[in-house]
Amino acid sequence: MGFLEQVYRDAVLEHARSPRNRGALDPYSVRQEGVNPSCGDELVVYLHVADGRVDKASFDGHGCAISQAAASLMTQAVRGLTLDEATQLITRFKAMIRGEGADPSLGDLAVLEGVSKLHARVKCATLAFVTLDAAIDAYAAGTSEAAQVSVDESEPG
Ligand code: ZN
Repeated sequence: MGFLEQVYRDAVLEHARSPRNRGALDPYSVRQEGVNPSCGDELVVYLHVADGRVDKASFDGHGCAISQAAASLMTQAVRGLTLDEATQLITRFKAMIRGEGADPSLGDLAVLEGVSKLHARVKCATLAFVTLDAAIDAYAAGTSEAAQVSVDESEPG
């Protein structure tokens, strides 16, 4: 394992052990559940939207280290973004996890780039972003309690 891979792996494990923004938001604008049946990962993502921006994001749930670290990193990355910017972030993250490389704008999310080589774990890393995407759609549709979304039902990658 190269030095950088070790640094990235350590960063992922650190987020899994000490997740940021864990727990329900109260109040929240939208609450979205997401599942990854192939691994058993379950997330609940909460967003609080003000003036068209995500001013708070949090998550709850359980699952493997990669799913929990990705959710922790996602809640940090999405904070302060407009809903359009958050949607662009999801698109760039999915491109990275398909193996297209990390866009510099992904910031700390780049620590998850190595997961693109672990095909069985790609859905674990993508779950937080599929759930975020569904949360944004639900919010845009005026729904605060959205139906559960499965990573298996999202488009490949
Ligand atoms: Zn998993």
